[in-house]
Amino acid sequence: MTAVPATAPTTAPASAPTPSPSLPPQAAARPYQSYVYAYPHKTAYRPLPDRPALRDLWRGEAKDALSLYLHVPFCEVRCGFCNLFTRIGAPDGLTGRYLDALDRQAAAVREALGDDGPVRFANAAFGGGTPTFLTADELVRLCDIAEGRMGADLRAVALSVEASPATATADRLAVLAERGTTRLSLGVQSFVDEEARAAVRPQRRADVEAALGRVRDAGIPVLNIDLIYGIDGQTPASWRTSLDAALAWRPEELYLYPLYVRPLTGLARRTAHTDRDWDEQRLDLYRRGRDHLLAHGYEQVSMRMFRRAGAAPQGPDDHACQTDGMIGLGCGARSYTSALHYSFDYAVDMGEIRAIIDDYTTTSAEDFGRAPIGREIDSDEARRRHLLQSLLQAQGMPVADYRERFGSDPRADFPAELAAFAARGWLQDGGAGTVLRLSPDGLAHSDALGPELFSPAVRAAMAAYEVK
Ligand code: SF4
Repeated sequence: MTAVPATAPTTAPASAPTPSPSLPPQAAARPYQSYVYAYPHKTAYRPLPDRPALRDLWRGEAKDALSLYLHVPFCEVRCGFCNLFTRIGAPDGLTGRYLDALDRQAAAVREALGDDGPVRFANAAFGGGTPTFLTADELVRLCDIAEGRMGADLRAVALSVEASPATATADRLAVLAERGTTRLSLGVQSFVDEEARAAVRPQRRADVEAALGRVRDAGIPVLNIDLIYGIDGQTPASWRTSLDAALAWRPEELYLYPLYVRPLTGLARRTAHTDRDWDEQRLDLYRRGRDHLLAHGYEQVSMRMFRRAGAAPQGPDDHACQTDGMIGLGCGARSYTSALHYSFDYAVDMGEIRAIIDDYTTTSAEDFGRAPIGREIDSDEARRRHLLQSLLQAQGMPVADYRERFGSDPRADFPAELAAFAARGWLQDGGAGTVLRLSPDGLAHSDALGPELFSPAVRAAMAAYEVK
């Protein structure tokens, strides 16, 4: 690490990011704009005219601490709030054909990674969709693809898997535990049956509790429970009911998600949430949830994530999301080199999703060796991504880390943005310290603050994207 100057430079370096449009000094922004879990967002990707060969994209990249992600785009139901790339059910042997295609893709991608240096995966994740929509035998095959084709050592690294209560069966969990799963994330959303119905995720609390018991019996070290606030009819009391029901399992992690109603999702067709009252409801429930978890021995990791103090770690993982590459396999999964983020086509509408998955299952090995859509990451975007991914974590961003990577000070690169955040009280110490860290109010406004760090070009691309 390099030393941190006592004061920020007053002039921006020649390579400083493109200035963003002027920002309002006060907290005028609505708190729930978008969940920035990756930057740039996939809606800023565009078809790559020359469909570059993966072998060329990965040549010369560091590949000794990669992240491996396998996407399983199947669910038993389509939750009303969900805009993820997934379809309902899988008729006529579709999961088998999907795994065949995944195997072809894994072989093509591993070949493209080449042997010009060590290739090692520092962590792995199965997400979706619902990976446990697959049968136990199919999950064995999924693990075999990750290990046999890609060379990931699943038992030696952190392996996270998403599951739904209905599909978290003992036989599937036994496979996952035996193959080295260190974290099982269960999408519960609410322990109140009426709220689950209102979110178009029909389930009975008794079934959820039984699933949690099976996860604990499987002995997977880290249990995560996802909950949602802002559901129609949810009250502080019913929110507390869900929080306490989750806490009764002493989960190592809890994610509290604000409800969003996005275009083309089930809830978008039923309700029209646009008012500030809903913002106030969500902010109130967020603060109640945060305070309740902090009072019960949890630490806040980000706006959404809480970890039980002293809980078992997820397992060895030396991947750094700001700098290390990612390989995503499966329809809808993205991959990151230092210069390009790429993926397959993407949709929210069910008919479009089915067509894209069908295309995927017939894709040849040769086509799997190319990147069809994506977005280049230049030095401007790399700086924004580093700042975003660090600042949205409760521990914040050491200014020295940024300086070491980019040779400049983030306060010189993003003067308007950081000044606006400071004026709103969203930065601890007004952003003047050696670590840029969000205040409690800043963390609460992560979904407003994040989008303000998007570059003008990414904003324009996202605005021009036609949801399908
Ligand atoms: S929220 Fe999860 S379980 Fe529900 S439809 Fe989306 S991916 Fe499937």
